[in-house]
Amino acid sequence: MSTASVIIIGAGISGISAAKVLAENGVEEFTILEATDRIGGRIHKQDFGDVSVELGAGWIAGVGGKESNPVWELASRINLRTCFSDYANARYNIYDRSGEIFPTGFAADSYKKAVDSAILKLKSLEADSAGQVAEEAPSSPKTPIELAIDFILHDFEMAEVEPISTYVDFGEREFLVADERGYECLLYKMAEEFLFTSERKILDDRLKLNKVVREIQQSKNGVLVKTEDGSEYEANYVILSASIGVLQSNLLSFQPPLPRWKTEAIQKCDVMVYTKIFLKFPHCFWPCGPGQEFFIYAHEQRGYFTFWQHMENAYPGSNILVVTLTNEQSKRVEAQSDEETLKEAMSVLRDMFGPTVPYATDILVPRWWNNRFQRGCYSNYPMISDNQLLQNVKAPVGRIFFTGEHTSEKFSGYVHGGYLAGMDTSKSLLEEMKQSLLLQPLLAFTESLTLKQQSPKSQTYNTNANFISGRS
Ligand SMILES: Cc1cc2nc3c(=O)[nH]c(=O)nc-3n(C[C@H](O)[C@H](O)[C@H](O)COP(=O)(O)OP(=O)(O)OC[C@H]3O[C@@H](n4cnc5c(N)ncnc54)[C@H](O)[C@@H]3O)c2cc1C
Repeated sequence: MSTASVIIIGAGISGISAAKVLAENGVEEFTILEATDRIGGRIHKQDFGDVSVELGAGWIAGVGGKESNPVWELASRINLRTCFSDYANARYNIYDRSGEIFPTGFAADSYKKAVDSAILKLKSLEADSAGQVAEEAPSSPKTPIELAIDFILHDFEMAEVEPISTYVDFGEREFLVADERGYECLLYKMAEEFLFTSERKILDDRLKLNKVVREIQQSKNGVLVKTEDGSEYEANYVILSASIGVLQSNLLSFQPPLPRWKTEAIQKCDVMVYTKIFLKFPHCFWPCGPGQEFFIYAHEQRGYFTFWQHMENAYPGSNILVVTLTNEQSKRVEAQSDEETLKEAMSVLRDMFGPTVPYATDILVPRWWNNRFQRGCYSNYPMISDNQLLQNVKAPVGRIFFTGEHTSEKFSGYVHGGYLAGMDTSKSLLEEMKQSLLLQPLLAFTESLTLKQQSPKSQTYNTNANFISGRS
């Protein structure tokens, strides 16, 4: 086994967990090629307003159930500081454009109506895909409160519409990571177990940062990976953990090209964009009592600065608000200057809390859509799709094994999905290696017979994940 070799593309949670499983199984000959200058991928903390905020994944979702979420276990092992998020009250903190809060009864009724309508819509989609006629077409949300609740249901919760494996298997509680070391310290902890590290720095030269892979060539003998800086690496296999958004873009090319069933599956999977905008204020002017961590702004444009959270539970005294935008609103905001976004956010806040609220002193707008190493935030499989689509996204093509959250059958879109997918992919690859090792004597015998019949030539097959040329 130790002679086999693997190149892992991407050092997010799936790439790191894949590498760890290989190392634990005696495959020491691997190279991790990561496009950026850090590990973590979509798990990324940044200092903002004296605290550490998570630009990507923020929550450990799925806690408190029968089974234990493996990411929660990792977090508990290193005493990651987290904070319980109680979304249940958000629906009772809905502001209209004049700053009035919708009465609790009215909000509860609107919420129930939205859930019923979502269920009806799902049934109608199911009937459609089965070629049957749906009983009743659901009415689409129209008023600002209906639009706001629809946004919360579909862009956040979704649990009301279909059972979500994360909550069914691991429990319904969600914990916000509020630790100065960041969510990413989970990855460093994992890396420490199989890479050479010192003082929280990875010094192992099997991890190569700033290596943007542009081309993957495969032949019956192995793979050749070319990076943007002109380097080339050879190995027996590749584990590719780039996001579904990257696979849909033209960052990577494959020789021979990927088969049609693969490219079609990749294109069919939706990519969700999810933008957390952080705003720092000189003081706190929003309600901070129990049940008030999350609040909603109802506007006639769906998803327009709808979902708000204050950070006082996570970091008391930080005076930070977070507003979350998704999809088209995310793309719109990514394309404009932060000053324009700040102006819009301030006008929304003044609608809710009055004209005297202080202007934010700082703003942070992550740009996941325009990041060519991400092209979005997480995979979003169509609600009605057969399992074949995911199986095709996940299936290896020759020597290229696909991993990442988008290949997780039950937990796509989540950190634990990425973590478990990396482990699963490495296990499948180990199985493949075992099979090919068993076959090797037979193949060598057949090859020697063939070679005897042809002119002798030297073998170019390389058993290590080798750097061939260019800068390392
Ligand atoms: C804003 C946001 C909020 C989220 N919130 C949550 C949450 O609260 N809870 C939760 O569980 N999940 C959340 N997620 C999802 C979660 O972050 C992901 O599911 C998970 O981190 C994906 O891990 P991964 O290893 O599959 O991919 P990634 O982390 O994307 O890792 C892939 C790596 O590949 C690298 N790469 C890409 N192309 C190349 C190339 N050509 N050459 C070399 N390297 C390349 C990238 O730089 C990256 O480091 C969120 C994600 C985002 C963006």
